[in-house]
Amino acid sequence: MNKIYLDNNSTTQIDPNVLKHMIPYFNEKYGNPSSQSHAFGWEANAAVEIAREQVAQIINAKNEEIVFTSGATESNNLAIYGLYQGLYSKNLEIITTEIEHKAVLDVCKKISKKGHKIHYLKPDKDGIINLEEFKKTINKNVKIVSIMHANNEIGSIQPIKEVGKLCKNKNIIFHVDAAQSLGKINIDVKDMNIDLLSISSHKIYGPKGIGALFINSSNKKINIEPIIVGGSQEKNFRSGTLPSPMIVGFGMACKIAKKNFESDQRKIRNLSNKLIQKISQKFPGTVINGSKSKRIPGNVNLTFPFLNGVSIINSLPEIAVSSGSACSSSNPNSSHVLKSIGLDKNYINSSIRIGIGKFNSDEHIEIAIKSITKAIERKI
Ligand SMILES: *Cc1c(COP(=O)(O)O)cnc(C)c1O
Repeated sequence: MNKIYLDNNSTTQIDPNVLKHMIPYFNEKYGNPSSQSHAFGWEANAAVEIAREQVAQIINAKNEEIVFTSGATESNNLAIYGLYQGLYSKNLEIITTEIEHKAVLDVCKKISKKGHKIHYLKPDKDGIINLEEFKKTINKNVKIVSIMHANNEIGSIQPIKEVGKLCKNKNIIFHVDAAQSLGKINIDVKDMNIDLLSISSHKIYGPKGIGALFINSSNKKINIEPIIVGGSQEKNFRSGTLPSPMIVGFGMACKIAKKNFESDQRKIRNLSNKLIQKISQKFPGTVINGSKSKRIPGNVNLTFPFLNGVSIINSLPEIAVSSGSACSSSNPNSSHVLKSIGLDKNYINSSIRIGIGKFNSDEHIEIAIKSITKAIERKI
């Protein structure tokens, strides 16, 4: 495949250094981390515990607050559905937003079908929630707040620290889906008063199929009923043999992301700015969706209103980008995020999401600019 990969909000290429560290845990170090009677188990367990520390450190958590899962989808399910089942609350109400990932929205839908009220905050046109509206929505039945840190389609960053403070004051459990912010902007679960945080490895150049849920050990109100039961691994929050190669890879991906944070993100930000600048110069009507200042580096979501609803996604043979979100590309319904920030169907059809990552170069951006320019000129 010689398309240039520019869909890094959907998934990322594995970092070769991450892969290198994983390989021994597939072949010679294949022990089950839970086996305590021999060295095969001990060495696998030691590697898992090093990885747990690497994951904990990138979000300022304690090692024992990290529960490994299969990814952010499972972490979101475990956090929200697990709480719903564990809290035994008759009149449970949940506050979330209209622009969450489907892994939060669909769990909320399931809980709403059981007769509970879900409040969906509507973001402004930049994709950011209003704190005053949030405050007004809080009532004595609200026991869970779930708000994403950064949006996967438009990159907007929510005021997580402010929400965390309000939740703490009101004794509400605060869950954050941080799959898109991890490694891109600072996350400090203590400073931000976060109780539960979902993260994923494959968005930060680690392997797919591994992620984690951070569970604040100092909030005694948190009572999560496990969804997957069996072998009592991960303190019974998540049973199943630990996939040590994947965990080692996730740990290494976190370590590298933390170490190269400044330089990687500066490079990505510069590439994004260049792309936006050049496209806006060529086509002054271009709309940049999401906030200009409060957004993660690398996410570029553009609408070309002058295309009048014509899509260019299939006219870009040189680059791999996405229309809205990967999850909704295979879904005929248009993006719920773009809809929520006020775009009509025509605008949504003429939108693309470009996700720039650390393996992209200046040359890639030049090719993307040419490819997009050619596609637009052919359609207008
Ligand atoms: C990718 C993503 C998820 C799902 O993560 P998986 O590890 O693929 O299950 C959830 N939330 C957001 C915001 C994401 O970007």
